[in-house]
Amino acid sequence: MVSIILKRGKEKAVLQRHPWVFSGALQQVNGKPENGQLVSVYSFDKEFLAYGHYNQQSRVAIRLLEWDESQTPNEAWWRKRIQTAVANRGHILNHSNNTCRLVYSESDFLPGLIVDKYADYLSVQILTTGIERNKTVIIDELQKLTGAKGIYDKSDLTARAHDGLEASSGILWGANPPEFVEVVENGVKYHINIAEGQKSGFYCDQRNNRKTVANYTNGKTVLDCFSYSGGFTLNALASGASQVTAVDSSALALETLQKNIVLNGFGAYNTKTIHSDVNKQLRVFKEEERVFDVIILDPPKYAPSRSALDKAARAYKDLNRLAMQLLPVGGLLATFSCSGAVDMETFKQIIAWAALDAGKEIQIVQQLHQPEDHPVRVSFTEGEYLKGLLLRIG
Ligand code: SAH
Repeated sequence: MVSIILKRGKEKAVLQRHPWVFSGALQQVNGKPENGQLVSVYSFDKEFLAYGHYNQQSRVAIRLLEWDESQTPNEAWWRKRIQTAVANRGHILNHSNNTCRLVYSESDFLPGLIVDKYADYLSVQILTTGIERNKTVIIDELQKLTGAKGIYDKSDLTARAHDGLEASSGILWGANPPEFVEVVENGVKYHINIAEGQKSGFYCDQRNNRKTVANYTNGKTVLDCFSYSGGFTLNALASGASQVTAVDSSALALETLQKNIVLNGFGAYNTKTIHSDVNKQLRVFKEEERVFDVIILDPPKYAPSRSALDKAARAYKDLNRLAMQLLPVGGLLATFSCSGAVDMETFKQIIAWAALDAGKEIQIVQQLHQPEDHPVRVSFTEGEYLKGLLLRIG
C-alpha cells in the first residue's frame, strides 16, 4: 500500500479524528497512488496514523476511513460499516415512515457516500473517487440489507467536481424507479421523483421539524415558504390547518405538492400554491396587508462557504424581517438555515437583528435541528448544517 508522510505537526488533526487531510499537509508520497486508492498515512516521525482514500485533484487530498492499523479497509470492512449505518436507522423505519437517510458520509465513517431510502428504492450519491472504486461491494451490501427493488445513482452534483469526477445518474442496480415513488413519512404520503427531484429527491432532514411545527397549526392559517413538494404544508393540513398557502419557485415542486394533496385525500379547497420568488411574494403580501398565524421559512443554502457568510447573513435577515411583518402578536415563525457556515448562535443573532428591524418582540419557543439519521460526529462538526428556531411574536 502506498504510504504518505505528513509534515511535522500535521498529525494533530488526524489524531483528533478529523477525517480530512488537506493537500498542504503532505510531506512525502511514497509511490504513485491513483485517485481514490487506499493509502496509509504516517506522521513526520513515521508513526502510523490512519488509512484513507487519496485524491491528487482534491483540496482534501486524503479522506480518512480507519484509525486502527489492524483494520485495513477491505471488502468485509465496507460491508460492516454499511451494516452499522443501516442498523442505526432501524428505529426510524416503521409503518408510518419508510423514508430516511441510511448513510450520511463522514458522519457514518463513510466519507463521500450518501444513501437515502424511499420505500423500496435507494437514491445514492457518490461524491469521491474512493467510493466510486468500491461501488460494487457497497451496492451489493445495500441491496442485501434493504432488499431494495432498485438503486439509483443521483450523483449529479457539483461536489463531485472537487474530486475530478463528472456528474453521473441512472440505475445502478435492479429496477428503474417509477416516475413517482410513493413513500410515507410521519404518516403523510408523498410522491418522490427520484430522477428529476431536487437533492436526492426529497428533504428527509426536515422529518422531525415538520411534525413539531404541525403541533401548532391546528385551525390556523399557514404560509409555507420554500415549500418544495409540501413537507410542511401536508403536515399542517394533516393537523387541521384551516388554510395553507405554499410558495416555491419550482413549478415541478408545486406540481408534486398538488399531487401529494390528492394522494393524502386532503381537500384542495383550503390550499393555495403560488409559483413565485419568496422575497417578492412576501412583499406582495405586505402590500396586501395579509397576515398569517404561522409562517415557515425553509430557504435553500444561502452560505455555501464561510466566505459567503456576510452576504448570507444579510439575506437571512431580510427574509426573516419580511416574514415577521406578516405575523400578528402570538403568531409563530418556524425559520431554518441549512448553511453549515451559519451556526446556531449566529442564526440567533441574525434573527435578533431581523426582529429589531421589523419592530417586533420575539420569543424562541423551540430550537430545531437535523434529525437522528443525519448524526454529527464530534470530531467532524462540519456535518452539522440544519438548524431552526420556532419563534413567537410577542
Ligand atoms: N421545505 C421543503 C424543502 C425546501 S428546499 C420541504 O419540507 O421539503 C428549498 C426550496 O426552495 C426548493 O423547493 C426550491 O425550489 C425553492 N426555492 C429556492 N429559491 C427560491 C426562491 N427565491 N423563491 C421561492 N422558492 C425558492
